[in-house]
Order: sequence, then C-alpha cells, then structure tokens
Amino acid sequence: MKIAMVASEVVPFAKTGGLADVAGALPLALEYCGHEIIVIMPGYKCITEAKAKITRVSKDITASVIGKNVKVFFIENKNYFFREGLYGDKNGDYTDNLERFVFFCRRSLDLLKEINFSPDIIHLHDWQASLIAAYLKNLYANQDFYSRIKTVLTLHNVGYQGVFAKEEFPKLGLDWGLFDIDGFEFYNKINLLKGGIVFTDFITTVSPTYANEIQTRDLGFGLEGLLKLRKNVLSGILNGVDYSVWDPNTDKFIVQNFSPANPFDKVFNKENLQKICNLPVNKDIPVLGIISRLAEQKGCDILADSLDELAKLNVQLVILGAGDLKYQELLKTAAEKYPKCISLHLKFDNPLAHKIYAGSDIFLMPSKYEPCGLGQLISLRYGTIPLVFKTGGLADTINRNNGFVFSQYTKEELLKTIKKAGQVSKNKSKWDQLIENAMECNFSWKVSADKYIQLYAKAKKR
Ligand code: ADP
Repeated sequence: MKIAMVASEVVPFAKTGGLADVAGALPLALEYCGHEIIVIMPGYKCITEAKAKITRVSKDITASVIGKNVKVFFIENKNYFFREGLYGDKNGDYTDNLERFVFFCRRSLDLLKEINFSPDIIHLHDWQASLIAAYLKNLYANQDFYSRIKTVLTLHNVGYQGVFAKEEFPKLGLDWGLFDIDGFEFYNKINLLKGGIVFTDFITTVSPTYANEIQTRDLGFGLEGLLKLRKNVLSGILNGVDYSVWDPNTDKFIVQNFSPANPFDKVFNKENLQKICNLPVNKDIPVLGIISRLAEQKGCDILADSLDELAKLNVQLVILGAGDLKYQELLKTAAEKYPKCISLHLKFDNPLAHKIYAGSDIFLMPSKYEPCGLGQLISLRYGTIPLVFKTGGLADTINRNNGFVFSQYTKEELLKTIKKAGQVSKNKSKWDQLIENAMECNFSWKVSADKYIQLYAKAKKR
C-alpha cells in the first residue's frame, strides 16, 4: 500500500510529546513490512538545526530520509513555521495557529500531486492535520487525483482539540454551511479536531481502553457524543516502543548493561542512581522512579498530596520532570524537607531518564488519564516494575503479573499500593518473577504496525 503520514511533529526532527514518537517510528515499521510511505510535516526552525541531511525539493519544500528510504517532506513558510516553538512560546499558544495549520494541511495535499505520490491512505495525526479529512471530502472531492484517497485520523490526546473563534472560519476556505453542529461548530467556536472526526473515514486512538473512555463524559472533553456516534469506525491501537533505543542490554547511558539472561546486574545501576542522586546507597531500600511532564493529567496532584506520608516509608523517590510551576514548587519544598528520601530533577534530561529507568525498582505513573503512556512500557523492558492508575493505556498494559495497579484515583489508594509494592519487593522470589515477567513483555512497533496495516486495508476497500 501507499501511505502518506501527515503530522505536526516527527522524531528525530521536532518533538513536544508522544505524537512525534509515533509519527517517527510507525513509518519505519510500515516500511519494514514492505509498504511505500512518505511523511509530511512543517519545516520548523529546529529542522534546519537537526543533524539530519536535508535536501531542497522545490522553492518551499525540503526533504530528508529516515529508516531505509522513507522520505520526510518539510513544508516551509517563513511567516508561519520559522519560529522557536512549534505551537507557542512563553506567552502561550501562537495567535495565528489556525492560519498556520490551514496552510499546512492545504499545502500537504497539493504537494502529493506535485510529487505525483497518490496514496491509498493519508494517516492524519491530531487537530493540526485533521482539516485534511474535511478538505478531501469537500474542496478536493471532484479532482480525480484525490477522489479515491481514504483517511485515518489518530487521536493522541482528546484534551487538545484546536479550538478557535468563529470569526476565523472563512480562513478555512470551506463553505459556511460546514460551520454547524454536524461539522466544525463546537459551542459557537471552530473545533478542528471535531471537523476531522466528522469527515475522516476511520478514527484510531492509542489504546483500546482510551478508545472507550473518550466516549464518556469524563474523558471525551465534549466530543463524547460525536465519538459514540462514530464508534463503528473507532478503534484503539497501542503505541510501540523503539527497542533499538530502549534496550538495557545495549544502552550506552547506563553503568551496567543487563538483560533477561542476567537481570541481577540491574543492581549496579540502582547503586549508581542512588549515588548520583545523593541518596543513601542501600540495595534494600526500594527506589521509586518518576519521569514525567509535571501536569495534573500525570497524577501530580495525588502524588504531591502523598509526599509527607511517603517520606515516612522506607523508600526513596527519584523524580525527573518539567512542567507546571505549581507542581515544581510543591515538589521542591518536599525535596528540601526530605533530602534523604526525595531526589528532584526539574529538567528534561534524556541520559538521566535512561539511568532512572535502569536503576529504579518501581516506576510510578499515577496518571489521572493516559491515552497510551510510554514510560510504563519502557520501564517494563528495564525490569522496573510499573505502579499505575487503572486508566487508558496503563490499564491495557499493566496487570498483577507485571506490575501494580490501583483503581481509585485517591492519594490513599496510591499510598496503599506503594506500601504493597514495597512489601512484595522484600520477597525475593516473587520480585524476581515480576522482573522476569516484565522484561518478557513485547510492545514492539511491529505488533502495532500490523494492526495499522489491517486497518488501512479495510479503509482502502471501503
Ligand atoms: P506524554 O503524555 O508526555 O507523551 P508518554 O509517557 O507517552 O507521555 O511519553 C513521555 C516520554 O517522554 C517518555 O519517553 C519519557 O521517558 C520522556 N520524558 C518525559 N519527561 C522527561 C524528562 N523530564 N526528561 C527526559 N525524558 C522525559
């Protein structure tokens, strides 16, 4: 099949979240399975600073290659994309984001014809690309080149929808008739993600449980009714992990490599982590690791509330995170109060993340909601036992055989589960079995890519 992937961020060129990981890794897995695939993304300022080789295709298009031969096209526009941030800066979202992504979507569609790449499927990601579904069904429907193309729209986090003032609607270049309840209208505003959900052929999200949850009032963020209406074309496909990057057996950032054949070497990484974090070096004290955006979605509220009691337990907590000022302050206060128990790192630091995945005993991920989650999947591979709230992708990947799950979102349940995990960690044979089970789990991209391929084939036949 021929597939064009359109996304606003793609690893290794630009990243703010998990979307970039998916848009960078899925094309490689699809190529490996024998499909022809291209990727289209905006030509941000950071692209020119990336280490990859970039070539010029035309006046406003450059390109690079990932994998064996997956071409990534960058749509340039000095006004719209040559900026420091992807979607905003310290003052908030860019005020012309609607115009920027209208331009991106139309230019992406025109580019396909220019390079004569006629895809069976255009795979769209999030609100930034979702206008393409509407354009294909309306503006481009009468053009032969475009009339047979099918779309799949992946929702990475329904909390972000691309909502703009009604007055901007003419900038979309669509008929005003589409600004209604069955189109883009959302409480008298424009909702780009909603338009995408209405017009796309198939919808996916990044875990089966999250696909159900977004059809409820709690997690649908106002789109639950529409998603329920389209549930026949909605499914959940888990994200994969790039095991060429996240492999304790070859990881260059950790002091001692280990694998399922010699899991006991993990302990040297724990010792090193305790040392570099200025925590007492003691292999009998469970180390809990957290690597996360500091946001309420990630469970920072119940975590912050738990810290005084957590400090009374015989555990150590290593936190690596950046984000909301409020949580930075709360964590800072606790870390100063309990220096022997909490080691806090308020930054984005990839090498340190590797060391925490490898050196912790338990990985805490008490997210309030979690479309898929990558941290728990990575920690499994490193024999670090996830402790999670039962939601979204966490519910789909973690169970009593490979981790600890709590199902009421309260600080009491979080603490109770931490205590339980601490106790189990004292039982060597039980703990070793958990580590073995965790390290054996396979969440590779190959598994996920096969599911996308099945879906593309179904969409193509439609
Ligand atoms: P998100 O909702 O942020 O996309 P995921 O769990 O899907 O959450 O993915 C987060 C990814 O970012 C993981 O690979 C995690 O290791 C990494 N990460 C998060 N915060 C940091 C940080 N402060 N430093 C280094 N890596 C981080």
